[in-house]
Amino acid sequence: MVEDNAVHAEIIRRHLSKAAGDRLTLSEVDCLKDAFQSLATSGIDAVLLDLSLPDSEITETLPRFIEAHDDVPVVVLTSLNDLDFATQAVQQGAQDYLVKSDLGGELLLRSIRYAIERKKTQDKLESYAVELQRSNEHLKAFAHTVAHEVKSPLTAVSACLQMLEQDHRDKFDDDRWEIVRTAATAARGMAQVVNDLLDFSRIGGGQQNFETVDLETAFYQAYAAQRPAIKQSGAVVTHDALPHVRGNEVQLRQLLINLIGNAIKYRSDRSPEIHVGCDEGDDQWTVTVRDNGTGIAAENCERIFEAFVRLQHADRIPGSGIGLAICKRIVENHDGRIWVESVPGEGSTFLFTLPKITGAS
Ligand code: ADP
Repeated sequence: MVEDNAVHAEIIRRHLSKAAGDRLTLSEVDCLKDAFQSLATSGIDAVLLDLSLPDSEITETLPRFIEAHDDVPVVVLTSLNDLDFATQAVQQGAQDYLVKSDLGGELLLRSIRYAIERKKTQDKLESYAVELQRSNEHLKAFAHTVAHEVKSPLTAVSACLQMLEQDHRDKFDDDRWEIVRTAATAARGMAQVVNDLLDFSRIGGGQQNFETVDLETAFYQAYAAQRPAIKQSGAVVTHDALPHVRGNEVQLRQLLINLIGNAIKYRSDRSPEIHVGCDEGDDQWTVTVRDNGTGIAAENCERIFEAFVRLQHADRIPGSGIGLAICKRIVENHDGRIWVESVPGEGSTFLFTLPKITGAS
């Protein structure tokens, strides 16, 4: 107990002694300096901390304590029956707060016990989170290295096969020619997987290079990137006015390229019509990419966002199954959500949300 008011200290001592007897050992100091000394030498399980101390200002006591000893659970004692103040204490890292005028033995004891348990759980969660992040980073680095290492021999294989395809048709009979063509197509497919994997591994967590991005410009750039496919398929691509958002321009452009590209790739017999729309919510935008393509069965609507999941067209339409996983990672990196609504045979609408920047549209 860190308490400089002798009367308050006496009340707490009595309450605790009555409620816990000798199940609890109370160690008492009356200033922050002595508290630190005591924590350095003895095995303290939890601290009852008065905020107004002779050697510390009321607003500074908790931050100073947490900075020096974030390994010990703290229950803040306050005379202020002020919820805002208490909430602030908990946000700063206190496990609980007790208003001195409401103290009772059972309440004190329960609060101390919960503080100890809560702190243990919190520490465990924190170490899991650190571990998870580390293993994610390792995995990403591993995927990147593998893709990178595979890329150069694969480029050589692809180049050789392409030379055979382009310049040596006359040296092969039909059966052997078919083998060359199959190998060349497979090599192209592998090159796409490797490139997509490299893209996937590059989209880091963390909001690097975030700036104000004009989504409409990103749309025009995505349109330009897909122009050959749009032309070849005769697709009509329309769009609503699109907002400014905070984000990574390269990633947001990639997101639109992938979604528009898929809307063209997975077209039906109808001439493709694609609309990029946008709805304004209170604190987020919902952008939609709607097509009149093949549609997706309900049971596949979630799994297509996993890496390497491809549906029925896998053999007919080139792809790696990574495009939507990239989209998901990009959207989540922007604190948004992505999903699809679809009617098989009629078309699909991919929707993603992005937080609004206050004061911009
Ligand atoms: P890829 O296009 O390389 O196969 P994606 O991750 O982009 O990989 O898509 C995963 C699967 O989701 C695709 O193989 C396809 O079956 C399905 N899909 C994606 N977009 C659409 C769409 N607009 N319409 C119908 N199916 C789609």
